[in-house]
Amino acid sequence: MLTVSEYDVIVVGGGSAGAVAAIAAARNGASTLLIERYGFLGGAITGQYIIGLKSFFNTRGEQIVGGIPQEIVDRVIKLGGSPGHIRDRFWVACGSTTPLDPATLKYVLDEMAAEAGVELLFHTFAINTVVSKNTVRGVEITNKSGRQIVLGKVIIDATGDGDIAAWAGAPYEKGGKDGRMMQVSLIVRVGNVQKDKLISYIKENPDDFIIGEDPYSGLTRELVVSRLKDFSEAPEIGGFFRLVRKAVEKGEMHPFSPRGGVNILISPMKEEAYVYGTNIVDIDGTNAWDLSRAEVELRKQAFILVGFLRKYIPGFEESYLIDVAPQVGIRETRRIIGEYVLTAEDVIEGRKFDDVVAKGSNPVDLHSPEDPRKIIHKFVKGGGSYDIPYRCLIPKGIDNLLVAGRCISATHEGMASARTAVTCMATGQAAGTAAALSVKEGVTPRRLDVSKLQKTLREQGVILYGVH
Ligand SMILES: Cc1cc2nc3c(=O)[nH]c(=O)nc-3n(C[C@H](O)[C@H](O)[C@H](O)COP(=O)(O)OP(=O)(O)OC[C@H]3O[C@@H](n4cnc5c(N)ncnc54)[C@H](O)[C@@H]3O)c2cc1C
Repeated sequence: MLTVSEYDVIVVGGGSAGAVAAIAAARNGASTLLIERYGFLGGAITGQYIIGLKSFFNTRGEQIVGGIPQEIVDRVIKLGGSPGHIRDRFWVACGSTTPLDPATLKYVLDEMAAEAGVELLFHTFAINTVVSKNTVRGVEITNKSGRQIVLGKVIIDATGDGDIAAWAGAPYEKGGKDGRMMQVSLIVRVGNVQKDKLISYIKENPDDFIIGEDPYSGLTRELVVSRLKDFSEAPEIGGFFRLVRKAVEKGEMHPFSPRGGVNILISPMKEEAYVYGTNIVDIDGTNAWDLSRAEVELRKQAFILVGFLRKYIPGFEESYLIDVAPQVGIRETRRIIGEYVLTAEDVIEGRKFDDVVAKGSNPVDLHSPEDPRKIIHKFVKGGGSYDIPYRCLIPKGIDNLLVAGRCISATHEGMASARTAVTCMATGQAAGTAAALSVKEGVTPRRLDVSKLQKTLREQGVILYGVH
């Protein structure tokens, strides 16, 4: 086996967490390698068409995530790929939605990684770890060039699935009490949508939608609907329950859509929509057999969904399928057990921690592992935000390793909030910065002085204090 090279920091996984982690590590002076199995960055937000980033703002209207994630948004806006943050009071209490065109986002992430000096290794799968004395020394990888080993002083697991941490021997959990994980869904992208028709239908049938669920805003459904002029105010809408019910009864729609309805997100490219209306349960996203089954079943549902949209949803009559997402959307797999485990209570109470390195405000957004139609929301009290402690990024029992993104240390329900892409980016910036500082100071991430990390993060635009 060939040892290729050594880096200060190796980031495995180039999703929202990993891309930001690598940029942060390189900007803070670390020689940084990013390993990604696909040929682009972004992970779920580019490869699974999760284009509406939630909760840059809490529902009180305070921005809670800045730094590199905000810079990404600014650059995508400049290239015409985003309308920016939209204060989302119409939908569930997620504070804000920020639609980002996936192709523009891929390009922006490439550019930012290159400018920071990140070495990108695409089309490469991490398959194992090099561990001695409970310390991760490197990662075994495979690609068209064969199997290789890359060594790093600090490794960041941003695989979403916690592959690296699990293979290195860190403890982890999957799913709820019975181990079953949240639903898996496939997003479809549809063109030639007539938005005015869609808006008129929503205004005429407000009780058929999830509207004004935000307990903090105090807005009534009627008030929300009367204010709804166009999709620049509410890019995402969920409902159409009566139409779905009718179609299911007639055998013209499958019965597995969210809450028995469909979610529609109008994209920055004007006449397009991204539609969530497919679900499957009992899929383990770390099992390739399960993933294969999910791809086939959800593509089948996606084609039924598109037929339904054209026949039943006003504004979709002349629409056409542009594409289904390149891969199914995985909400949950391994959650690595770290020095602190973020809970639903921490989220709901808006808890603050001395070792805060990132913030979140999305509600607990639990897509039931048992029932493909069921979603449970639990909101942050008072429309505020909660802290993510640095300890959630440090796996128990293993050194030189940090986790970022949806595999951080959290309970099933805690993760159901922290999994939102914006929060994943925020944990990525914290992990990347911590890794670079650890290398500079010659300490393991566990021993890093958190106050120094917090100072550096704040100097680099990260919001840690001063918001509810
Ligand atoms: C259907 C669905 C709807 C969602 N809706 C929203 C929403 O509306 N708003 C929102 O903000 N969030 C939403 N989310 C959540 C959010 O998109 C994800 O939780 C978040 O983007 C995860 O980011 P990540 O970086 O942790 O993981 P990922 O984005 O999954 O990135 C992990 C990366 O690691 C790579 N990788 C994995 N294993 C390996 C390996 N062994 N070797 C090399 N590379 C590897 C993958 O290819 C991937 O690029 C949704 C998620 C789903 C599934």
